[in-house]
Amino acid sequence: MTAAPIPFIDLKTQRARMGAAVDEAILKVVNHGAYIMGPEVAELEKQLGAFCGAKHVLSCANGTDALGLVLMAKGVGPGDAVFVPAFTFVATAEVVAWVGATPVFVDVLEDTFNMDPAHLAASIKWARESGLRPVAVIPVDLFGQPADYAAILPIAEAEGLWLMSDAAQSFGAKLNNRSVGTYGLATATSFFPAKPLGCYGDGGAVFTDDDELIEVLRSVRIHGQGTDKYENVRIGINGRLDTMQAAVLLEKLKIFPDEIEARDRIANRYNAGLAEVARVPRLIAGATSVWAQYTLLFEDRAKIAAACKDAGVPTAIYYPIPLSHQLGYKHYPAGPGGVPVSEKLAGKVLSLPMHPYLAPEVQDRIIDVVVSAAKH
Ligand SMILES: *Cc1c(COP(=O)(O)O)cnc(C)c1O
Repeated sequence: MTAAPIPFIDLKTQRARMGAAVDEAILKVVNHGAYIMGPEVAELEKQLGAFCGAKHVLSCANGTDALGLVLMAKGVGPGDAVFVPAFTFVATAEVVAWVGATPVFVDVLEDTFNMDPAHLAASIKWARESGLRPVAVIPVDLFGQPADYAAILPIAEAEGLWLMSDAAQSFGAKLNNRSVGTYGLATATSFFPAKPLGCYGDGGAVFTDDDELIEVLRSVRIHGQGTDKYENVRIGINGRLDTMQAAVLLEKLKIFPDEIEARDRIANRYNAGLAEVARVPRLIAGATSVWAQYTLLFEDRAKIAAACKDAGVPTAIYYPIPLSHQLGYKHYPAGPGGVPVSEKLAGKVLSLPMHPYLAPEVQDRIIDVVVSAAKH
């Protein structure tokens, strides 16, 4: 008898847990008919703000738009330099290119996978000397852990840059008891199904305490509208979150605190089982993670991945190529000395199944496969 297949992320068990509640929430929207900007959208924005402590919340169509909306609202454009980590999902740099500005790739720290503050400082200096106009920094909270904002924010402030946090993977995490969503000028997150808080399609949100910025964001989200729907005071996009996705998220938000606890428990169990054969993920002082991914480094990654595949354990590589080496992005600059740590990580990282419903006996199977592969 072969064991049941192990999912990398298990959304079916979560769906079964929510049961009729999520069916009813969706059906309610189908029947009330306010498919665009219906009452669930405003309610979700209110609840997300209460959840993380941000003053304003703007829901939107996806996490990439969330990042792009802020750049558009701030008028970022050609000649402007925006500092992004080289080791991240493409969207972080993509939005900078959308508005015609220059993404400058900053290296990351090997033990946290997040932006290296010292390399950020050097990269800002280099960009200024090269004739670019440094305007903003977008640290990413990779794999669910907040970037080192205590180190990064003072660098940004001293240089006159504003900060947007790419929290697509970290909504629900905290740093020094402050929730993700409250660092810097703005925070962008994603509700893509595989993110820690995901909907049943695409979705995203922007968080800010800035009263002026939220007004401009509301306008940019809906075609640059003014006081009237058919008055267009700036260039915008169609960036709304569907009411149906807001209804799904309102149901998922109810179980989210419990899921965050489960994710942490499961990550700690991995740490205990795998510390002997791999360097397990490190959290910075004061940080919690929502463990969007559980990622390890292996000298011989191919061997471990092959053993997992043979044993029916799915793995994934986030991310195999630093953004500064991607065909679409290699004409953009990296900071001084390039991004050697990002290059190294791209060759060694391996992510294991991670979700709140990973049963102990299944997790033990995964740990056994990885430990025995690493020892042989
Ligand atoms: C998922 C993700 C995004 C983009 O979110 P979408 O909702 O897929 O557009 C941006 N940045 C990071 C780091 C992500 O992981």
